[in-house]
Amino acid sequence: RAKEIGKNNIEIFSPTMNVGAYKKFTLQNDLRKAVQENEIVVVYQPKVSSETYTIIGAEALARWKHPQWGMISPMEFILLAEKTGFIHTIGNQVLLEACKQNKKWQEEGFPPIKVSVNISPIQLLHPDFVNHVENVLFSTGLSPQWLELEITETAWLKNESEMIAKIEQLRSLGIGIAIDDYGTGYSSLSYLKKLRPDTVKIDRSFIQEIPNDLENTEIVTAVINLAKKLNVKVVAEGVETKEQASYLCNLHCNELQGYYFSKPIPADEFKLLLKKGICSPEAALQKTVKPV
Ligand code: C2E
Ligand code: MG
Ligand code: MG
Ligand code: MG
Repeated sequence: RAKEIGKNNIEIFSPTMNVGAYKKFTLQNDLRKAVQENEIVVVYQPKVSSETYTIIGAEALARWKHPQWGMISPMEFILLAEKTGFIHTIGNQVLLEACKQNKKWQEEGFPPIKVSVNISPIQLLHPDFVNHVENVLFSTGLSPQWLELEITETAWLKNESEMIAKIEQLRSLGIGIAIDDYGTGYSSLSYLKKLRPDTVKIDRSFIQEIPNDLENTEIVTAVINLAKKLNVKVVAEGVETKEQASYLCNLHCNELQGYYFSKPIPADEFKLLLKKGICSPEAALQKTVKPV
C-alpha cells in the first residue's frame, strides 16, 4: 500500500515525510472509501446523574476503523472531513446510527436514556440539515425527547443569526440542544441568553485539577450557579477522579461524564452497563453526597 501511494503521488509525497505526515496524507486519500464502506463507527460514553450515578444519557462519538491504522480518533479526521465536505455524510451516518441504537435499547426494555450527537457547525448550516434530523427521527421511531445535539460555540461569530435560526428550528422538533466545550468559545455568556440551550457541558479543561486548582474551581462553581439560575442543565465532561466527581456532586452539577465512570465503548459493551443501570459500583458505594 505504501509503495502504491508512493508510486502514484511521487511529486507530492516526499520519502522524507515522517510517520505523522505520512499518516495524514493517506487519511486524506482514504476518507472517501471510509464513508462508502462504513468504516466510521460509533462508540458511546455514559452520562450519569450526579444524584444517583444511574446512567441517564450517552454521548455518541465517532471512530474510524481504518484497515491500516486501526482505530482513528475524531481529532484526526473531523477537521479533515469538514474541509473535504465528507462531514455531511459522516455526520448523517453517526446521527442515524445513534438514534437507531437508542431506539433499540428502549425496545429491549431499558429505561430510556438520552443520546447526544456532536454536530459540526458546517452540518448545521447545510440547508437540508433540519429536514434530515426530522427524517432520522421518523425513520428510527425515536421520540425527539431522547435526542440531544451537542454544538460547540467556536465559529458561531461568523454566522450567528443563521446558527441561532437553525437551532430554533431544531428545538421546535422537540430535541435538546447542548452547548459543548462550554467556556472555551468566544461568547459563552451571550449565547446562554440568545440560545437558551437545554444543556451546557463544561469543558474538560475546567474540570481538570478541581478542587485543587482554585481558578478552575471558581469558574466551575460560577458556571453551575449561573446555569441553575437560567434553568439550564449542567454536565461536567472529563471527570476522571473520585475527588472531582464528589466535588461536582456537592456543587449540584446535574450530570457527570468522564473516564472515572467509563471510557467511550461500543454499543454491546454499553448494553452491559445499562443492565447494571448504574456506573462504576465503586463510585456509587463511595458516594457520600446527599441528593439535592
Ligand atoms: P467532545 O464532544 O467534547 O467529546 C468529549 C471528548 O472527550 C471525547 O473525545 C471523549 O472520549 C473524551 N473524554 C471523555 N471523558 C474523558 C476523560 O475523563 N478524560 C479525557 N482526557 N478525555 C475524555 P473523542 O471521542 O476523541 O472526541 C473528540 C472530539 O471530536 C469531540 O469532543 C467532538 O468535538 C468531536 N467528535 C467526535 N465525534 C464526532 C461526530 O460524530 N461528529 C462531529 N462533528 N464531531 C465529533
Ligand atoms: Mg460532545
Ligand atoms: Mg465536549
Ligand atoms: Mg471537548
